[in-house]
Amino acid sequence: MTLPKPETCALCGRPLGRNWNVHHLVPKTFGGRVTVPMHRICHSKIHSVFTERELLQQYHTIEALLSHEAIADFVKWVKKKDPDFHAPTAKDKRKKK
Ligand SMILES: [Zn+2]
Ligand SMILES: [Zn+2]
Repeated sequence: MTLPKPETCALCGRPLGRNWNVHHLVPKTFGGRVTVPMHRICHSKIHSVFTERELLQQYHTIEALLSHEAIADFVKWVKKKDPDFHAPTAKDKRKKK
């Protein structure tokens, strides 16, 4: 089994930078095996918006993720950024609410 080297992020579609993650579409906790490449920032965004259970029950496809308003807005915003751009405050913003 050979996996092609991923070149683009499954979430935002931009080229991957030097640092990237894999996201389990179905959380590993629930036995998910399908992974997609993602920027670190895109990946942490997903986990700041959804719980593992929401990912399992509803948001286990890229289409479903992108249909969520918070993710759609995020993708629009991140598309203008550098591929290696990472905002460590992405999660903090949410907590202050
Ligand atoms: Zn991305
Ligand atoms: Zn993930």
